[in-house]
Formats: sequence, C-alpha cells, structure tokens
Amino acid sequence: MAAHHDIFRLQDVTVRYGRRLALDGVSTQIPCGGLVALVGPNGAGKSTLLRSLLGWLPLTRGEIRLGDLHPRHLHPRLAYLPQRAEVEWDFPITVREVVAQGRWPSLGFFGRFSAEEKRRVDRALEELDLIPLAQEQIRRLSGGQQQRMFLARAIAQGADIFLLDEPFNGLDLAATAELLHLLQQWLAQGRTVIAAIHDLSLARAHFSQALLLDTRLIAAGPTAEVLSEANLDTAFRRHMPVLGARP
Ligand code: ADP
Repeated sequence: MAAHHDIFRLQDVTVRYGRRLALDGVSTQIPCGGLVALVGPNGAGKSTLLRSLLGWLPLTRGEIRLGDLHPRHLHPRLAYLPQRAEVEWDFPITVREVVAQGRWPSLGFFGRFSAEEKRRVDRALEELDLIPLAQEQIRRLSGGQQQRMFLARAIAQGADIFLLDEPFNGLDLAATAELLHLLQQWLAQGRTVIAAIHDLSLARAHFSQALLLDTRLIAAGPTAEVLSEANLDTAFRRHMPVLGARP
C-alpha cells in the first residue's frame, strides 16, 4: 500500500449546519504518512473537518479526494476515534465486542465470524495490550484503556489512516505518554494520524504537520511555521475577550 504517497486534496471545502457556517472555503493538501494536528479555537470547525474527511457530512461546497477517491470509498482505510463524551459508556458491551465491530462491515449481510476474523480481532487486542481486559465491560475501563479500545477497533478494521477527535482530552499524564508513544510507533509503520488537538504545546512537540483553522484555514504545513505568533493571533484573536488569554 503506497500510504506515503497518498495525499488528501481539499478544494474549497465549505460546510454549513443550517445557517451556521462551520468551514469556509478550505483548500489544502494533507500528505499521508505523518502526524497531523488540527488546531484552532472552540468552534473553529476541527470536528467538522474530521467528519468531512470521513465522508460523513454533505459538503455545502467543494470536494475532498484521496487519490481519485471520495472518502466514502476509502473503507477500510479510514477509521475514526470519537471524543469520549460522544460514547454511551453505560451500554452493556465488552471490550472484545467493541473491537470486533471493526470487522462488521467486512462480514456481509449474513456474515459470521470465521476463525480468520477472530484472529484479526485477537491481533488488534494484542497490539493495544487489551487481552487481559477483553471480557471487561467498557464502563469499567480507565480513560486511557477506553482510548486503546477504539484504536484496537480501528486496527481490527484494517485502517491505516486514523482520524482522532481530541484524543488527549481527559487522559492523565501516564495515559498521555502511552498514547504519544503509540502514535510514534504508528508513524514509523507509515500510518497516518490526523488529530484535533487543543493543546498547542503537545501539537508542537509531537506533530510534524499542522492545520490551523478558524472556520477558514489560517495556515497549513510544518507545525512550527503554522503555529507562529502571527498565525495564532489571527486564529484566536476574536476569542481573546472571552478567554482572557490564549490557551
Ligand atoms: P471544533 O471541533 O473546532 O470545536 P466544530 O466542528 O465542532 O468545531 O463546530 C464548528 C461550528 O459548527 C461551531 O459553531 C458549532 O457550534 C457548529 N456545529 C457543529 N456541529 C453542529 C451541528 N450538528 N449542528 C449545528 N451546528 C453545529
């Protein structure tokens, strides 16, 4: 798989929710095979951009392609890690059952889990150190373990491009370090991670590429250049009176 040569091409990507403009004319390219941070103030359109890259949202205008393909046709390569707040943690389901969901779309209508399907789930559980927790109910997991469970589901699916929405939110220092270590390993394996991140120092330290958004695209490219003082002023200025200071 020529993951390193793949490039997301965004042309005039514009998304409205009713009358609210969430993304306005975003044109850029996102090369695969790296760690890419989506940065910007609350409401800047980071989640909207992730959902657009997944092909889940109708664009009001513009288009997104990876190679010649619309994101809808990129299964199983694309996987999404939801924000923790989006998940119903009380739902009675085990870690293994959630990870096995990664195989569902491949099974067909009356598909049953073959030995090979089960092995893929096992390998994903193993890669994320979840074998000892496989039979646990998901509500019993720590934040870091919950995160790993969704990453394992994505691995089971066979994804190599991971779209993560605020993956570091609510993680303690140890879980943060663990996730960063994992992402570095993925980077070495040629996997692609595009993550909405509000912690600028984390983005600077660990993500080589960045997109700075404030409904419009402010800047894209190497993180150190994108997160310049001038660009951050542009992106966060209108939020200053509310926040008091930049994060
Ligand atoms: P971010 O992830 O950067 O905080 P979002 O993409 O979640 O930004 O939101 C961008 C804008 O779109 C915000 O103004 C938000 O209130 C609005 N928005 C997001 N999702 C919806 C929705 N489902 N319906 C209406 N407005 C939405």
